Amino acid sequence: MPLYRDEAVVLRTQKLGEADRIVTLLTRRHGRVRAVAKGVRRTGSRFGARVEPFMQVDLQLHSANHEGARTLDTVTQAETIAPFGEAIATDYGRYTAGTAVLETAERLTAEEREPSLRLYLLVVGALRSLAEGAHTPTLVLDAFILRAMAIAGYEPTLDGCARCGDPGPHRFFAVPAGGMVCSEHRPPGSATVSQPAVALLHALLEGDWSVADAADARTQREGSGLVAAYLQWHLERGLRSLRLVER
Ligand SMILES: [Zn+2]
Repeated sequence: MPLYRDEAVVLRTQKLGEADRIVTLLTRRHGRVRAVAKGVRRTGSRFGARVEPFMQVDLQLHSANHEGARTLDTVTQAETIAPFGEAIATDYGRYTAGTAVLETAERLTAEEREPSLRLYLLVVGALRSLAEGAHTPTLVLDAFILRAMAIAGYEPTLDGCARCGDPGPHRFFAVPAGGMVCSEHRPPGSATVSQPAVALLHALLEGDWSVADAADARTQREGSGLVAAYLQWHLERGLRSLRLVER
């Protein structure tokens, strides 16, 4: 079946030749897909503005599978489902958080065409929340990262010690250990964490926005620092292992 339909969020675009773009899509049913959008950089292109980052679109794609060797699919139709791009790109805080959402989504989908409906819905939810200005953009980003990592199998341990399970409460967060640790199992270099910051991470992971929105600026910064360190560590490991596989 050379033609197929799916809905998608546009993660990234790259120029191709004079008038075309390669678009990286996170689709609802086919996972991450790279496809060619022809003629979209010409003035008057029918769907050029629809296949831009942050946009949620309904697509028709033509798959080009020649003798088992897959080349890039081609976008043949694009209809807007939700034009998140306009509301996100015009606000610096929303734009930077939204860009990080898209990059994280791309990096966490290691394989192309591995469907993850949960990640797709999570990305759509984060973009909608940013576009509507429902919450502080950095909180939306942190909630997205924590939940996306949970889907990828890297949910941080926030209840009890990640090493021995002692219920705590504990004061230390150790990224390589996978979350909170007791003073006995605290590896060198663990961060000391305030109880409000732990409560914030909990609320973000569970979508408890009444608690998350009430966190003061200092607690939000502390939480963001932990989330970023946690993501960075796992992505670097992921990339390292990927390089080994390719060799
Ligand atoms: Zn312990």
